[in-house]
Amino acid sequence: MTVNGKQKPSVGHFQSCNISYPSRSLEFLDSPSLKPDTNGHSTAEARRLDILVVGAGLSGLAAAVALGRHGHKVRVLEQALELGEVGAGIQIPSNSARLLSRWGVDRFWEGKAVEPGSITFRRWQCGRPVAHTQLKPGFADKYGAPYLTIHRAHFHEALRQRAVELGVEIQTGTRVAHFDSETPSVTTREGKTIRADLVLVASGVRSTAHESLGHGTTNGAYRTGFAAYRATVDVDKIRADKELAWVTENPNLNVWIGEDKHVMTYAISAGSSFNMVLSHVDWSDPETWTPEGVLEDMRQQFADWDPQLVRIVNMVDKTMKWPLTSMRATKHWVSVSGRLVMIGDAVHAMVPYMSQGAAMAVEDAAALAVAVQHATATASTLPSSTLKDALKVFERIRSLRACQMQQASLVNGKLWHLPDGPTQQARDAATRAEVEGEPFEVSANQWSDPVTQEWTYGYDAEAEMSRALREQSLWDAQPGTQQCTAG
Ligand SMILES: Cc1cc2nc3c(=O)[nH]c(=O)nc-3n(C[C@H](O)[C@H](O)[C@H](O)COP(=O)(O)OP(=O)(O)OC[C@H]3O[C@@H](n4cnc5c(N)ncnc54)[C@H](O)[C@@H]3O)c2cc1C
Repeated sequence: MTVNGKQKPSVGHFQSCNISYPSRSLEFLDSPSLKPDTNGHSTAEARRLDILVVGAGLSGLAAAVALGRHGHKVRVLEQALELGEVGAGIQIPSNSARLLSRWGVDRFWEGKAVEPGSITFRRWQCGRPVAHTQLKPGFADKYGAPYLTIHRAHFHEALRQRAVELGVEIQTGTRVAHFDSETPSVTTREGKTIRADLVLVASGVRSTAHESLGHGTTNGAYRTGFAAYRATVDVDKIRADKELAWVTENPNLNVWIGEDKHVMTYAISAGSSFNMVLSHVDWSDPETWTPEGVLEDMRQQFADWDPQLVRIVNMVDKTMKWPLTSMRATKHWVSVSGRLVMIGDAVHAMVPYMSQGAAMAVEDAAALAVAVQHATATASTLPSSTLKDALKVFERIRSLRACQMQQASLVNGKLWHLPDGPTQQARDAATRAEVEGEPFEVSANQWSDPVTQEWTYGYDAEAEMSRALREQSLWDAQPGTQQCTAG
């Protein structure tokens, strides 16, 4: 039998079950002779596709880079007249940083990204540490890439520069009004139809492309009841207050947590700017929010918190309030035709409490590029079933991972937002060892808990996708086998 065009050992011993149980017996599938080459495919002949990406946010540009690396013709259509990112800071956790560094994106943020030493969770009314994760040293060695914080504009620009370097075309001022997953093609607001081999939709949480997938699904975004103020303060302003200097001495993350609210802080822009995300419960209509009103609201919301934090909050002279939206988990990311795929916030927007929304989009991009390579390398011409089969595996792997990360993000909200009382005290007792520098095996802090940490930051989206495709090839090549499906 052949797998990925290579002669393989007999798989006659494989029985009718998918590998959903702990086992190392299929690790031989990772042997070098079966490994894809550095471009992610196992034959030299790979067909180059014409790929249209809709949306030049972090998801769209990450996908453009991941696909552009393999020589596909990638065109990105963006509705905005100018490229950019809303908000100030963003965390690039190790699972995302590893991929971006592999793709050569990190060169473009050199001297701008910050590598924080740790993340410390603090009690809302006094700032006393209640949980602590050491990021540096630690994460870079353990997970093959540092944990970073960065200005969104610097992240976005690094992706753009790398995409352009790879020959990706980015067309701004082009709003897609209609998606046709059969042709496949898109039609712009001006009525121009653009065809491609594959359409990739990365148009964010308000995307209208779900209807075009052909599964009868619609956009499943919902308001979570949380909103966040986003603001920055000049680090020199904070340093001028001697009692607050500790906040900026090391570029660490500090998170104040209390009932129904938290404040996430970290340095960006080579340490010159202090980024704050202040999350709170808010069901009010965003139409009623005004720039002057939200600044005053923000100060009121946190007025009785840690006096040191309040001093920093009062230094903010401009803020933006943002409703936090999540997307109902969907298994439908790929159209019935197999020629239109959705990624990023468009299919898995999540509350930002694991700091993993964009990281999931980078993982989507990585997995998608591996799937496309697999299909184009295994078919000399491209029967759509081959691409569709690979994309189905992509959809299965990515929808599970993203759904789990959505859950983990909501769990963090629950853990952080406990009211003072017995459960909060039990939580703090469950993180005491890490605060005191003692060894621990379990933690109520998801950044520290060894199992959650490994699952979150140790995940390699390219390796996982390659493994899943190779396993799928084995099942496909073995007539009469069937896979277990969750009941
Ligand atoms: C407060 C907050 C903090 C966060 N912190 C983190 C963090 O620390 N780490 C992390 O990994 N993630 C974080 N996230 C999540 C992250 O910001 C998002 O997951 C990510 O930005 C989504 O990118 P996207 O490209 O999928 O969507 P978007 O950023 O919404 O981009 C979509 C793009 O598509 C364009 N578009 C839309 N419709 C069309 C159309 N019809 N035609 C053409 N173009 C179109 C839009 O103009 C836009 O440019 C945070 C989110 C929030 C709200």
